[in-house]
Amino acid sequence: MAGVRRSLAGEVNRPPGQRNREHPADRRNISPKGCPVRIHLPLPQAVSALLVATSAYVALNAQVPSSSPVGAAAVSHDRLVKAHAEPASWMTTGGTLQEPRFSPLDQIGEQTVPNLKLAWFKDIDTERGQEATPVVVDGAMYVSTAWSMVKAYDVRTGAVLWEYDPDVARAKAADACCDVVNRGVAVWNGKVYLGALDGRLIALDGRSGREVWSVQTTDTAAPYTITGVPRIIKGNVIIGNGGSEYRVRGYVTAYDAETGRQVWRWWTVPGDPSRPYEQPELARAARTWRGDAYWKIGGGGTVWDGMAYDPELDTIYVGTGNGNPWNQGIRSPGGGDNLFLASIVALDPGTGRYKWHYQTTPGESWDYTATQPIMVADLVYPRGRRRVVMQAPKNGFFYVLDAKTGQLLSAEKFSPLTWATHVDMRTGRPVEVDSARYEITQRPVIVAPGALGMHNWHPMAFHPGTGLVYVPVTVNNAAYAAPKAFTLNPQGFNTAVDFASGAALYDQPGAPARGNVESYILAWDPVKGKEAWRIKNDVYGASGLLATAGNLIFSGNHKGEFSAYRATDGVRLWTAPTQARVVAAPATFMVDGQQHVAILVGARGLPDGQTRTNPLSANNSRVLVFKLGGTAMLPSAMPTTGAGAPRIRINPPLATASNEAVIAGEQAYAANCAVCHGATAIPGAGSIAPDLRYSGLLPIRNGWNPTVRDGDRAQRGMPGFGARLSQETTDAILAYVIKRANDEKAEQSAQQRP
Ligand code: CA
Repeated sequence: MAGVRRSLAGEVNRPPGQRNREHPADRRNISPKGCPVRIHLPLPQAVSALLVATSAYVALNAQVPSSSPVGAAAVSHDRLVKAHAEPASWMTTGGTLQEPRFSPLDQIGEQTVPNLKLAWFKDIDTERGQEATPVVVDGAMYVSTAWSMVKAYDVRTGAVLWEYDPDVARAKAADACCDVVNRGVAVWNGKVYLGALDGRLIALDGRSGREVWSVQTTDTAAPYTITGVPRIIKGNVIIGNGGSEYRVRGYVTAYDAETGRQVWRWWTVPGDPSRPYEQPELARAARTWRGDAYWKIGGGGTVWDGMAYDPELDTIYVGTGNGNPWNQGIRSPGGGDNLFLASIVALDPGTGRYKWHYQTTPGESWDYTATQPIMVADLVYPRGRRRVVMQAPKNGFFYVLDAKTGQLLSAEKFSPLTWATHVDMRTGRPVEVDSARYEITQRPVIVAPGALGMHNWHPMAFHPGTGLVYVPVTVNNAAYAAPKAFTLNPQGFNTAVDFASGAALYDQPGAPARGNVESYILAWDPVKGKEAWRIKNDVYGASGLLATAGNLIFSGNHKGEFSAYRATDGVRLWTAPTQARVVAAPATFMVDGQQHVAILVGARGLPDGQTRTNPLSANNSRVLVFKLGGTAMLPSAMPTTGAGAPRIRINPPLATASNEAVIAGEQAYAANCAVCHGATAIPGAGSIAPDLRYSGLLPIRNGWNPTVRDGDRAQRGMPGFGARLSQETTDAILAYVIKRANDEKAEQSAQQRP
């Protein structure tokens, strides 16, 4: 794959003659036969016993398709259902379709983890939030990054197999409530599936990154976005979307994984009542809404993150979002439960037929989504085993439901919350604190949790050996107040909450601390419905979790560390610097008999005291991969190309522009860019801005011009030139910088020759 430089909008640049070479995996439905390799996975005795007793993890000997070609993504439904028996792979972002984020691998364990070292790393070429969990199968690792880009790496070496950029229009960022993030891809039958920020669902060839098909899953005139992971159940790709801060109506859709044809769509909230309801249960749902603002504004209930599948019950569980607008007094004056907002909904994955639902926050008014991660597990109660669905949504209660019937088994506060006293187990409904309903009292109120939730999208993990669920908890509050008047904002947020009036409450004596209070990893016993212990974070913020049979949990943090803790008691056994904030969850897998752990790092700004070391990313976004005895090192400073400085790989697109364009570009560069980025495109000692020859935007004209002309990176210190530079001029500057980057690449290659 050495000739494949980069895939843009589905086009792969290959050397002549290779352009249309198709791998057999592109055409055949490959099942993971190959030569079965048996991996013995010794487990601590207690863990083993529980695992064997736990049907989801019965098979611990893995059949690994060793002859599968690198990057084939040759995943069948059978292989997905049995993903727990193939722990050498990490076949879905959640580990398996049940999404426990647990691995039976234990080569990295309590005794060996101190020797865990960096095996390889790769710089990521964006500096927005990185939220994806890597997917690893058939020798390749697939990660999505901010701006819905996908990278495929050889897991042995970290070599880039291909890169894909869907070229999402940067203006789409205005519709993304919470950064232009993406939480990962799915793999199936030779293909990799991506939900792009602009609402496209895209199937890529697993070997080449070439676009196989693409469908628009949303109305492009509406502020829908996709940041969530597609799930693939029996050949259907299931994808939701976000936008409940804006003006949208939530739904989840299944598409044929081979063709992109729509199979079913399930709407979470009723639409215009003068038109037929799309599903029979929406007529019932409509009786729980009041007035007509909701369907005109959208109602919300978007399915933007959590889903899980139970193969035994052939049921997919989807989480639904908050109301749109948040303020129920505007959305549904007079109240009502507003089904199916803030609910866990059980659907038939083949038809989209509704099975049952449980609503966590009836008539929600505080952005209390129930889109948080969902997992299916077997819990061992004193009276026997039970198949359950678990979720710790924003509202601060940890829910355990019977997976078959939806019966509420427990709902306990996992952190201090003030909007309700408890959940009434007879009715299954929260008992609210009256003052929390700011839209009824018309008085501002501080409520915990706030809109960011006691637990948000950051993945939790379940360890069947300890019986504990590990939850990244953020303790925070927010001040809510009803606005004096509400007018629909066609462009931006429509929460119908007056945050400014509410904020005055913090100045009153005895008021709680403003906003973010503390954060920690909570070890929660879901059978007892109570906390076992917690690990407090030094720096506030949530990061995703992974549990392993090595009696470990892995998590990054916002201080710039990636750590392993003992799963039984939370004692920290190992830590490594990440040089970046971490929000994403790790994955683990085997490479040539060695267990590896991978994590994507980078979010918002740098950790306190950390300098930039990644030439492609201001927040040091990278994928980091660890193994026992690894020997790779992160750079300690920003690489430069000066004498004695560490070399970084330069990888510009081919210089294809005319000499005239390059000369025009050189003059325009000198006049407009050199003062910050350095004369002749080489930053000097006084240069304040990045070395453009290493810019990830070079191959992306659709990224370059919005940055240089429209100010897409203005908040990072790159003001747009606007109409002062014509597109012809900025194209010429791009051509010049690409030429200078190729000059540098040639010089580096020459120096590396013996
Ligand atoms: Ca929301």
